[in-house]
Amino acid sequence: MKLLEQRILRDGKVKGTDILKVDSFLNHQMDVKLFAEIGKEFKRLFADCDVNKILTIEASGIGIACITAQFFDCPVIFAKKSQTKNIAGDVYTSKVTSFTHGRVYDIMVAKEFLGPSDKVLVIDDFLANGAALEGLFDVIDQAGAQLVGAGICVEKAFQPGGDMLRKKGYRIESLARVQSMDEEHGVKFVD
Ligand code: 5GP
Repeated sequence: MKLLEQRILRDGKVKGTDILKVDSFLNHQMDVKLFAEIGKEFKRLFADCDVNKILTIEASGIGIACITAQFFDCPVIFAKKSQTKNIAGDVYTSKVTSFTHGRVYDIMVAKEFLGPSDKVLVIDDFLANGAALEGLFDVIDQAGAQLVGAGICVEKAFQPGGDMLRKKGYRIESLARVQSMDEEHGVKFVD
């Protein structure tokens, strides 16, 4: 998606060799007009999938998922992150290793919001090693729901998550695929 690529080139900041900061329009301050274009594109890509739920993970996926959900006319569920072992209630849980913080945390979704009649689209801001998506896919599997695929804003294609998940047969649609990046040369996208 050219609009997102151009915005990354203009306002994204590369930290070290593997972190792209997009705080001015995606992760902290949010450009909701850009989100609307992103949501429209996800709707175009997954138009025929009868999506009736969108699943994301807190915190930075929530804004994008909510704007996207308006185009699918469906609710959004966000998986909650928890570092405690005492997960209360009737919930699906899975373990995720955080790319940005390097810790393992539990994610949870209440059983009442996800079940076998659901066709679920997963939305997230970034795809790096694929741990966040694997955790969300695991929760969908536990619920007996149908996963239609994942819509990702920025895939760092030089990291293994995208290839690994596509090889497993999952449908992953990324709007901007970063081929390489560094502080000196900036970001290059996959053609
Ligand atoms: P993964 O689980 O695929 O390794 O990493 C995905 C998660 O880590 C995303 O939910 C995102 O919040 C965070 N993340 C991974 N790489 C980056 C990055 O380069 N920049 C930012 N802002 N977040 C990232």
